Amino acid sequence: MMSEKGLFIVVSAPSGAGKSSICQRLLQACPELKFSVSCTSRPPRPNEINGKDYYFISRDEFQRRIDQNEFVEWIENYGHLYGTSIKAMEDFSQKGKDLLLDIEPQGAKKVKQKFKKGIFVFVLPPSRVELLKRLEKRGHETDEAIKARFTQAESELKEISWYDYIIFNEDLETAASQLMAIYVAEKCKRSRLKDKIKKYIKK
Ligand code: 5GP
Repeated sequence: MMSEKGLFIVVSAPSGAGKSSICQRLLQACPELKFSVSCTSRPPRPNEINGKDYYFISRDEFQRRIDQNEFVEWIENYGHLYGTSIKAMEDFSQKGKDLLLDIEPQGAKKVKQKFKKGIFVFVLPPSRVELLKRLEKRGHETDEAIKARFTQAESELKEISWYDYIIFNEDLETAASQLMAIYVAEKCKRSRLKDKIKKYIKK
């Protein structure tokens, strides 16, 4: 197990919970926190930028990286592969930099097993009825796709038991400030500041 100098904040949510907007707010407010760019075999959506939103790679290239054990975790979701590079995470951690991961619960669980000091946050829409409404409102998906996302959301809800923090996204501003509060409080934890405290006492 390597030493973990940087902090990892892992955010999961069923689709339609508003996770991306909340994460964007946190990243804008905290420039020292960087977004963990995953690899995916899914094609980019309009407005998505390679290297910023994801590293868009072919399925063959993804498979090659799986074979080379390059991922901390990877999953197949809606027919596409998604994975987090182990090297990227280790580099960040050893440099003492903080990283925000937007990944679903199966992958988050693997990260939790590997990186003991991660913080795990689950974002929920205000209610299940609201979740379905939000999924329908997305507009660009078939009924079948919406149903599949809803079924997946239901099964993801079962995973909330092992997350450290839960945010009910009733209002974007409130939810974003809750995520910020979690991050800031974690940064101030004595257990994370041992070296700094030692130096401080010595001086
Ligand atoms: P989307 O295709 O909408 O960008 O993402 C679909 C889902 O994949 C989201 O729940 C997102 O959190 C998850 N995801 C994105 N990157 C990764 C990753 O590297 N690993 C895992 N396990 N899930 C990911």
